[in-house]
Amino acid sequence: MHITTKKTYTFSECYQLLNVDPKTFRRWLERAEIVPTVSRADSRVKFLTEPQVQLLAQEHERELHHDTTTQELAHNVPYGMYKLLADRVSDVEQELSDTRDVVDKLSQRLSELEEERQQRQALSPTPRAASKAKVRPLPPDLVNLYSFTDEHRAPQNEVRRLIKAGFIHSHVGKRRTEKGRVDETLDQAGRHEFWVQLHPFEGFQMCGQCPHTKESEQI
Ligand SMILES: [Zn+2]
Repeated sequence: MHITTKKTYTFSECYQLLNVDPKTFRRWLERAEIVPTVSRADSRVKFLTEPQVQLLAQEHERELHHDTTTQELAHNVPYGMYKLLADRVSDVEQELSDTRDVVDKLSQRLSELEEERQQRQALSPTPRAASKAKVRPLPPDLVNLYSFTDEHRAPQNEVRRLIKAGFIHSHVGKRRTEKGRVDETLDQAGRHEFWVQLHPFEGFQMCGQCPHTKESEQI
């Protein structure tokens, strides 16, 4: 909240600033056609704005006498200034009360939102838990295609081509392993298809379970 304080002067301050007696001051006002502002707290108290005071000073060739120190004012606050301050305090109080209403509404909305959030959290797992649940662990009957190909020293691009052509059937989908995630896997039948297609290649390396038939697995 930003409160701007507009500089204004009560008549008694004006007499001092312009070094003029009240009677002459009133005459100046009439001549300059200046209409003073009337205090809302006390209609007997009138004041001028800074530009109005400067206009009078200019017209009558007066230098403004800013010789009233803050300390003097604190000890001897003129009635007019007191009323002026009372106006400003009441403005600030009103603004403060409006602000409190807004803060009350906001904090109420905030606690409603927090309640909603907690209800939602109770109903569904956290996003982290949800994403973990989506990536299922690798079942024991599936193996990582990439490392299986590597283990048999088979060319990855040829394996890729054979899968595309439908000679080897792989499973696509992210699975979790102890070493990380895998994208593509082979089941028992897929591993045997792999062996059938790839073992004639030069450099093919047999593993302990080749040729990956059901029987070989049982041994
Ligand atoms: Zn093998």
